[in-house]
Amino acid sequence: MTTTTGLWEDLLVGDELAYLATETAREARTAPLPDSLQPVLQEALARRGIGGLYAHQAEAYAAAREGGNVIVTTGTASGKTLAFNLPVLDALAADRHARALYLYPTKALAQDQARSLGELGIAAVRAAIYDGDTPTERRRQVRGWANLVLTNPDMLHIGVLPRHDLWDDFLHNLRFVVVDEAHVYRGVFGSHVANVLRRLRRLARIYGAEPQFLLASATIANAGELARALTGEHATIVEDDAAPRAERTVALWNPPLLDAELGLRASALGEASRLLAGLVGRGLRTICFAKSRKSAELIHRFASDRLDAATAARLAPYRAGYTPQQRREIERRLVDGELLGVTSTDALELGIDIGDLDCAISVGFPGTVASLRQQWGRAGRRDHGLAILVASEDALDQYFMREPPALLDRRVEAAILDHANPRVLDGHVAAAAFEAPVDAGDGATLGPEALARAPHVPELRRTQRGWVWAGKDAPAARVPLRSTSPDSFLVVDASSGDVLGLAERERAYSTVHEGAVYLHLGRQYLVRELDLQARRALVEPFDGDWYTQAKKETQTSIEEPLRVERRLGLELSFGRVSVTEQVVAYQKKAAADGSTLDTVPLELPPTTFDTEAVWFVPRPHQLEGLEAMPLLLSSLHAAEHSLIALLPLWAMCDRWDIGGLSTNLHLDTGAPTVFVYDGHAGGVGIAQRGFDQFEAWVADTVRLLEGCPCEHGCPSCVQSPKCGNLNEFLDKGGALTLLRRMSNSS
Ligand SMILES: [Zn+2]
Ligand SMILES: [Zn+2]
Repeated sequence: MTTTTGLWEDLLVGDELAYLATETAREARTAPLPDSLQPVLQEALARRGIGGLYAHQAEAYAAAREGGNVIVTTGTASGKTLAFNLPVLDALAADRHARALYLYPTKALAQDQARSLGELGIAAVRAAIYDGDTPTERRRQVRGWANLVLTNPDMLHIGVLPRHDLWDDFLHNLRFVVVDEAHVYRGVFGSHVANVLRRLRRLARIYGAEPQFLLASATIANAGELARALTGEHATIVEDDAAPRAERTVALWNPPLLDAELGLRASALGEASRLLAGLVGRGLRTICFAKSRKSAELIHRFASDRLDAATAARLAPYRAGYTPQQRREIERRLVDGELLGVTSTDALELGIDIGDLDCAISVGFPGTVASLRQQWGRAGRRDHGLAILVASEDALDQYFMREPPALLDRRVEAAILDHANPRVLDGHVAAAAFEAPVDAGDGATLGPEALARAPHVPELRRTQRGWVWAGKDAPAARVPLRSTSPDSFLVVDASSGDVLGLAERERAYSTVHEGAVYLHLGRQYLVRELDLQARRALVEPFDGDWYTQAKKETQTSIEEPLRVERRLGLELSFGRVSVTEQVVAYQKKAAADGSTLDTVPLELPPTTFDTEAVWFVPRPHQLEGLEAMPLLLSSLHAAEHSLIALLPLWAMCDRWDIGGLSTNLHLDTGAPTVFVYDGHAGGVGIAQRGFDQFEAWVADTVRLLEGCPCEHGCPSCVQSPKCGNLNEFLDKGGALTLLRRMSNSS
């Protein structure tokens, strides 16, 4: 094994280096190809030079042969694909009637998988993609010919299940359902996909099949729980990663503190470009991931400026919208050494397989440890690689800089979803009733919650055959998989007419109000008009250097406490709340330093939605000395913000998925109260996870506040980029006092 350490050693020095360690290389643990494997499959593997397996691949094959569901959760590039392909291809080769369905979250990933299946060259395996791009005349051909169909959840939901009569033969013979990148199915999207998979199980059963589910996921804390939540059934966990690993150096890099009192740091983009230029200048092939396209372009430019013209010419940005040919051209140029450095937005991390690079730089924590590992996984697959996280000023990033084990060693981050959220479930109950009458027997596949909801779903009629659909059009088309709200706003690029996405009504007023800067797939847009009647936001590409923050008034009322426990010396509740928000203004803030450029009033109606929350009422002794106003409110408010900042460490979600409210006197509790709520109507399990992990969550938050070097609070601890009160009334000291007292209670 060559060692390249010497090449970057002199670059990784100085106060910026928050952590440096080398993960040791690991030998593979192998297993022979199982004897039971079909000869054609053995031959195909031999042609590709595969004469044996990693132990976890053999384990997954054996578990699948037993007939149950399996979830494989091993590291990046550990051969998860072969782990689920083996049992499937084996079954297809042995039984010409057997069918398999592969589910991918994006079209690009389905294309990659279809290509590699094709390259195996097994005549008995007839793989075909069936998605929105499949021409109508080709669709019938795929249904009749293919025994392995690759699709995505949206197509399954709208295009396949409602037309199951066209798929009768396929469903009757359905042996395997593969769900790759399963950790992506979390939150709102995951809650919907869990229902789509239950509808698939039900229809398969109606046609006489009980398919096995084979799932593959990034390493997460709750793989078994995720498999059950997604499919409704138990799955065997295969997690003992036996793939070889090259040595990898991991560095955490914190931009220098410019003003300790204000907690102001140098730009992460500047630091990243310095590292990128340094690594590329040493001839090391490097990929750099940034949060937005603009950031990626700036890093590319700054890095080019630092290099001589010949080296700078070997840097390239990598953008969304490249065709597979363009992507492969960039990959080829990297492999050939023609290109040395590539900058990309992290929106692309799933869609690219750029091969073996020497170094990977992540600029800003990408939101989940799984994503970070995926980005880092590009570096050093064969030889000693270098992986770097350059911290942003965000509280979670800064927490990791001071507590590296929280990022590198603890496996706490859990993919969560809630298929039973009525706002999600109801649409699928309607869709299921459209597909076939829903009766008591369907509880086994759809879940008991679905049957309980049936009487509440409009347009369902009770008949002797069960609940049937009495509406006109197919209901699935009305149920978008990425929203919990049926009345969502379309976000439309006025310059091209393209629909960029959906904004749930509850969040539309604060994210796509007139004048808002809206980020989509790493690109910036300015909202020209928000049409409340047409439920449409017209946006245009935007190149300015400011962002916007909405000012809103929020109220919560407690609808129903579901769990109340004495925890950390106080009464901790989890339950249903209703949240009313009114966006009243927005501020334009300079991208460079966050200073306020302008405040613009807005006139928008209030919105109310039901969701789940965790809330607590501190005891008087925990608030001793903090009782005076406004200190009381400021302490609670700062505690709320810092708690919200760290919840994504426990629940795989974005801070933007979480809302909060703190008040010195709440009408329902009659006392000072802090609420942290799920930002999606109905809730997807985020607040519940906070309730379950409350002690550890609060302990982490205490460490966050203790460790932040600022004097009175800063963006890296108590300030929040989404505060509806524009970060007024925040007292870091008071929050720390309260949370410490809570943490020391039992
Ligand atoms: Zn701070
Ligand atoms: Zn706030």
